[in-house]
Amino acid sequence: MKIAIFAGDGIGPEVTGEAVRVLNALDLPGLTLFEGDVGAAAYRRHGHPLPAETLTMAREADAVLFGAVGDPSCDDLPREHRPEQAVLGLRSELGLFANLRPATMFKGLENASALRPEIAREIDLLIIRELNGDVYFGEKGTHTLDDGQREGWDRMAYTTSEVRRIAHVAFRAAQGRSKRLTSVDKANVLETSQLWRDVVVEVAEEYPDVALEHLYVDNAAMQMVREPGQFDTIVTGNLFGDILSDQASMCVGSIGLLPSASLGERETAHGTFGLYEPIHGSAPDIAGHGKANPLAAILSAAMMLRHSFKQEENAVRIERAVEQALADGARGFDLGGSAGTRELADAVLSRL
Ligand code: NAD
Repeated sequence: MKIAIFAGDGIGPEVTGEAVRVLNALDLPGLTLFEGDVGAAAYRRHGHPLPAETLTMAREADAVLFGAVGDPSCDDLPREHRPEQAVLGLRSELGLFANLRPATMFKGLENASALRPEIAREIDLLIIRELNGDVYFGEKGTHTLDDGQREGWDRMAYTTSEVRRIAHVAFRAAQGRSKRLTSVDKANVLETSQLWRDVVVEVAEEYPDVALEHLYVDNAAMQMVREPGQFDTIVTGNLFGDILSDQASMCVGSIGLLPSASLGERETAHGTFGLYEPIHGSAPDIAGHGKANPLAAILSAAMMLRHSFKQEENAVRIERAVEQALADGARGFDLGGSAGTRELADAVLSRL
């Protein structure tokens, strides 16, 4: 079981270190961890946020556990040298096109949600975001118009095969949950979205046991705060998924609680190759203070065991230990408590 650890910048190393402690505590036979540089840390050492040796390390691993990248001192660098390029580069170079972001309300945290507790209590959803296409990867640029104004543009596009493969991931995920899938688009105004919807409808014929509904993204954003309990599995494009999943994070209390998995089509001897990371960034405002919540990173390690190593039992063990720690009152600074990074991880380890 070869796991590449790319901790990155800011709170990345702090939270990833705790996730590694949890993995080590499971005493998994054949577990080999190796570390690589990404982000600003890599730029300082190698002159690039995603050095070739890091990419090679990722390709040789069965899974990548990623922290976060981003450093305010790099804000003025040319875009290709900014730390954030590391995560975009890994996703595209490794063909990671499916981003799974579960958002579940943990018992006892209902009051931490931005929503009323009786609404928040019902949240148990999985957002599946396409990760390799859309306006993030289309041609982009700025130019000066004849009248002297500057114009910026980014091309939004999806091909049928890109939509088809993410739709299959979503229908299969829905089959493993409550067999309800919501596809989110903006087909009333965008051609890209109309194609998305047509392909999802086509793929649905292969999954007659899954109930499919379509929502426009503006309505989905509204429903997410009005009645999030109505959703089970959501599938959407890169841009809409980015926004909706951050919104979902605030509905469950803190961005420090949400893990994610990015999967592709590569199968290893153990399972599906994937990159696992908390959905939060490098949080420079709290980096180095020992205040970061490590639970999202720890839950990302659980997702890694499930998808890349088919170790459902160990994944559930970690998830139950996190649930129990929270139910017993463990609270980090992000949730109005005073438990530091190490203390929160200790609370999980003692329940494991
Ligand atoms: P952020 O997620 O880093 O922080 C947003 C807020 O949430 C901050 O107040 C932060 O203190 C808090 N927060 C985040 N994670 C937390 C945790 N585990 N525990 C407690 N509090 C936590 O987002 P941002 O401030 O918009 O971005 C900071 C940097 O991170 C930027 O450089 C951005 O580009 C980068 N970023 C990287 C990734 C990634 O590596 N995948 C994702 C998002 C942002």
